[in-house]
Parts: sequence; C-alpha cells; structure tokens
Amino acid sequence: MLRRSFLPLAAASLAAQTRPYDLLIKGGELRDPARKLKRKADLAIRAGRIASIEDDIAPASALQVMNAAGSLVVPGLIDLHTHCAVGASGLGIDPDPIGARSGVTTWVDAGTFAWDQAMGFRRFVVEPSKVRVFGFVYLYPSNRNPDTDVVKYVRGGMRQTGEMAARNRDIILGVKLQVGSNMNGRYSLDFLKIARELCDQYKLPLMAHISFSPPETDEVMELMRPGDIVTHMYNRHTLGILGPDGKVKASVREARRRGVLFDVGHGLGSFNFEAARKAMADGFLPDTISTDIYNLNVNGPVYDMPTTMSKMMHLGMSLDDVLVCTTATPARILNRVPGLGTLDVGAPADVALLAVEEGSFPLIDSQRATETAKQRVVCKGTICRGIRLG
Ligand SMILES: [Zn+2]
Repeated sequence: MLRRSFLPLAAASLAAQTRPYDLLIKGGELRDPARKLKRKADLAIRAGRIASIEDDIAPASALQVMNAAGSLVVPGLIDLHTHCAVGASGLGIDPDPIGARSGVTTWVDAGTFAWDQAMGFRRFVVEPSKVRVFGFVYLYPSNRNPDTDVVKYVRGGMRQTGEMAARNRDIILGVKLQVGSNMNGRYSLDFLKIARELCDQYKLPLMAHISFSPPETDEVMELMRPGDIVTHMYNRHTLGILGPDGKVKASVREARRRGVLFDVGHGLGSFNFEAARKAMADGFLPDTISTDIYNLNVNGPVYDMPTTMSKMMHLGMSLDDVLVCTTATPARILNRVPGLGTLDVGAPADVALLAVEEGSFPLIDSQRATETAKQRVVCKGTICRGIRLG
C-alpha cells in the first residue's frame, strides 16, 4: 500500500526525465524581425528559457503542448508606458489578466508611483505579478502640504527620488514627468529643469509626457538628452511634435538625431490618427509603441496592445516594424533582462501567439475619430517565464 502511494511521484519524475521540455509551442510561424527570424518551426521551453527551436520537435518530448498552427509566435510584447501600480493611485490596472489576453509579458509603469511609494510598488505590484513589471518613478511626491511652495517641494524630493531609483535599479528604469500646462500648471518647465538635474546627477533616463503648452516644444526638446524618452508623440495638442505647417518641428528632429527616443503612449487623450498620419508622412515613425493603458481607457479607446498595434499597421507600418517597436527596441531601453524581447535559444521564455485577421474593424483614436481597418492583430496565447498565462 505504501509503495502505491509513491507511484504518482515516481511517474512524474519519470515523465520529467523522458520529456525534457516543459512546454512545446508547435506548428506556428516564428517571427523575431530584429533578428530577421521568420520561420515555420517548433519552439520548446525548459525551466523558463527557450530550450530549442527546430523544424519538428516531437510532442512526446514535452509535458504540455500548445498548438500554434495559424499563429505567429513572437517574443512576449513589452509595453513601455502603462499604469499598473495598482493602489498607488486610482489609475493602475492589474497587469496579469490583461497581459494574459494581450500578449504583453513585460509592463513598464510610467510614473504611477513616487519615491515614497516605490517600496509598495515592489512589494504589491512587481513581486506578486506573473508578468514582468518595471517602472519609471514619478518626480512629484504624493502628499504635498498645500501651504508649501510647490517647486521647492518637488526640489526637496529630488535626492530621495534619485536615491530610491539608484537603490532599486533592478526595477526602476528612470524618472517620469508629465510636462504640460494641464498636468503641472505653470510649473512644468520648473519641474522639467529639476528632473533634468536629477537625471544628470543619478545618470537616469527621463521619460517626458508632452501635452499642452506652455512650455513650448522647443524648450522641452532642448532639455532632453540621448536615451531620454518623449511619450505621447502622436498627440494633436499644443505641446506636440508637429509645427503649424503639419511638419515635424526642427527641434524634434534634432532631438531624435542626438538619440532622444519617441514613444507612442496612446492613452485616453494622446493618440490622434491625423497627427500620426502627418508625422509619419514626414518620415517620423515611433521608436516604441506603447499603450499608456490604465483604468480609464482599458475599455476604449486603448483596449490593449494588439489594438494599438493594429492602429499603427492601419497607418501603414508593417507588422515586422510594429513588432520591433514592441519587442526588441523596448527590451534594449529596459536593459535589465539578458535576452528579453527575442526568440533565441537561451533567452527568457516570454512568448506571445498572435494572428493577423482580415476583415473590417473599427478603430477609435483618443479624440473618438473612428476609422475602419482591413486587418487587426489578435492574441491567441501568452507565455511568461515559461508559464502559460492565457
Ligand atoms: Zn501615462
């Protein structure tokens, strides 16, 4: 009797010995355009890493098999601008269920938490999440006494913000600031100068949201350095990348030339088809495509990353270019996990199964303009750290 009770364990270990892979993704088309990989092949995962890519891997060699026939097998998507710090403000959303249905395996929170909430971000968001979570710390702390001078107050938090980022480099990528008269009133430029000083001192990238002037675009661009990120690039607001002639401003081109990165950051108010079309017609494509997803736009107009990708394809980008902007490039910016954002043997087993459907699909921008697309990207499955999420 005793012996019998040991049998399932023995059987399990025998299965693990005879089945070297934990998960096999079978019959899909592998796409990793940054590495020029486009190949119908099977991909096997072991211990959270991609263990093998071969034309035909026997199903019997894996404990679990996913049928990927008809799907594109791509690196897990990386969303560089989200709000997933649940609890730190009213905005954040839980990244796991949305990651599971949308293929996003790496989430970057862009300034939902300030230095005084960073430990809560680690403990209650980064650690319990199945997906990978990183963040840009927000410069503006949460509990200002209304009697204190606001610029002095933000300057007063500079050192704590820098030190918090330096001590938590494994999860904090840089500093986020919202620059725009609607966000930080008339203090935006003062705050931006403080952020500049902070990022120079602690050698951190700055992510700047742009929305309404003042300050003016040229003033903002002047303060951006190589490796910094401008998000909401396709807004149609007064603090944007386009001049009155509908062309990309010289200061914006100059910023890109010296290595400033430009991110889509769709959001509730920041993605406009017309603005995007004009900028793209002037040759100004995004470095990264992100959603700026949070609880006020997850039920539209953002919905999720595949919908944002569909919008960029509708505007003329190829699927491969969209994939580079949602995998390899944000992985390079993150620069925290070796091999992230690629489908290579030895790389982390973060994988999305996508499909491009043909038909007639309404797409809505932030100003509620609706256009009809002939294609859309859909997610068929998500694997993060070798574990199937959806
Ligand atoms: Zn945002």
